[in-house]
Amino acid sequence: MSATAAFLFAVSSCATADTIVLKNGRSIEADHVTEDAAHVTYQTSAGELSIPRSIVARIDRNNFGSSSASHGAADALVSAPRIEPVPGYEDVERLAVHDQAVDSAYLARLESEAQSGTPASIARVAAAHHAAAQFLLGRGDTDAAISHYRHALIFAPDNLGLLLNLAILDIRENQFTAALDPLEHARRVAPDSADTAKLMGWAYYSSNKIDPAIDEWKRAERLRSDPEVERALEKAERDKSEEESYREGETAHFVLKYYGGAAPGLARGVLRVLEDDFRSLEAQLDYTPPEPISVILYTEQAFADITRAPGWVGALNDGRLRIPVRGLTDVTPDLARVLKHELTHSFVGQKSRGQAPVWLQEGIAQWMEGRRSNAAAAALIRAADQGVAPPLSSLEGSWMSLPDADAAIAYAWSLAAVESIIDAGGLSDISRLLDRIAAAPSTAAALGDALRTNYDDLLQQTIAYLKRQYTS
Ligand SMILES: [Zn+2]
Repeated sequence: MSATAAFLFAVSSCATADTIVLKNGRSIEADHVTEDAAHVTYQTSAGELSIPRSIVARIDRNNFGSSSASHGAADALVSAPRIEPVPGYEDVERLAVHDQAVDSAYLARLESEAQSGTPASIARVAAAHHAAAQFLLGRGDTDAAISHYRHALIFAPDNLGLLLNLAILDIRENQFTAALDPLEHARRVAPDSADTAKLMGWAYYSSNKIDPAIDEWKRAERLRSDPEVERALEKAERDKSEEESYREGETAHFVLKYYGGAAPGLARGVLRVLEDDFRSLEAQLDYTPPEPISVILYTEQAFADITRAPGWVGALNDGRLRIPVRGLTDVTPDLARVLKHELTHSFVGQKSRGQAPVWLQEGIAQWMEGRRSNAAAAALIRAADQGVAPPLSSLEGSWMSLPDADAAIAYAWSLAAVESIIDAGGLSDISRLLDRIAAAPSTAAALGDALRTNYDDLLQQTIAYLKRQYTS
């Protein structure tokens, strides 16, 4: 199972009821409405539901105080605060970005004026680079956005907004250690910034440093109460109390924790298998996660207590690989498949900057663990012939609230779609699609850019592939 919750981007959220107005005129009253490029997700008494964004006309927010924007990296536990480095320079921002492009000549002129060192000229440079960075970010070019912030910081090294925006992008790129540089500088500049503490907690938590994460989020709460930080702090404290009784093992790419009662031989075996998987995924997906990946082995009861996942979830990846090992003393073939599956989620999540839809996540993870569609093919073909194949676009958002039977169908279609993509263009198509998803406004757009296809055609291609491959 993918940790959908972790890979979803909470772009905005609020606690009071909102109204989702659909294009067909209907409306839905809902709590905790979140949206990203492709879908709108909300809470109901029956659990979390997702609908395609394309059918939504607008969301009427019934909120007090604006919610913050976020672009979560491995963990969307908290969202990134929106911070203006230098308010009041809208004119500069308009001159820095116009006609869908960054005006580099204008930026160069501002920089040469800023050599004089007057506060106003420096503020203009900061505002212009911020505008350029945000524009490029909207286009998915995070690297270029980072370089604008670094450039601006040469002129305004103590600008809190620039420092925090840079840190947010580092976190988005899973560069948690790098994020601590601007954050520590921000701490020296403004020791009482709640945003700095919030982001530091996020960077520490994501890099598996629970104690400093808890310290930072407590500090953030003292400085400014924030329901998101409060929830993240609760989760971190739950993790901490659970993990205190755990032993540790470490390799080049993994930090492993396991319950003291588990066999040390099992822990060593798990690390050996994961290292092999890491190397093969690295080659197959043409991607290397920049930070060590955290793995926790659970006895079954501890897993249910701490993950609070539905019963059909066997293992979980919410930025950490959470693997129930029951009474195992050695890596069985089943456990090896679970490890490969969950590790694949880490690669796919990070390579796509958390944007991969759930069907693609689960399709690739199943494919990598060695599953193929042979057993399910007949039923899928029958469903397609009866016109009840679910559109893949409906499988983009969280599956956490799906009943068992629907989850099984969703997994089967996801695998079949990924198989057909690989059949048509090889793993390099998957790799290119993930890169594109990281930058494109939606999966549909990425399918067009990377594979010159769309959801309808992909479903038809999948059905044709199933018939060709599995019936004769
Ligand atoms: Zn999965």
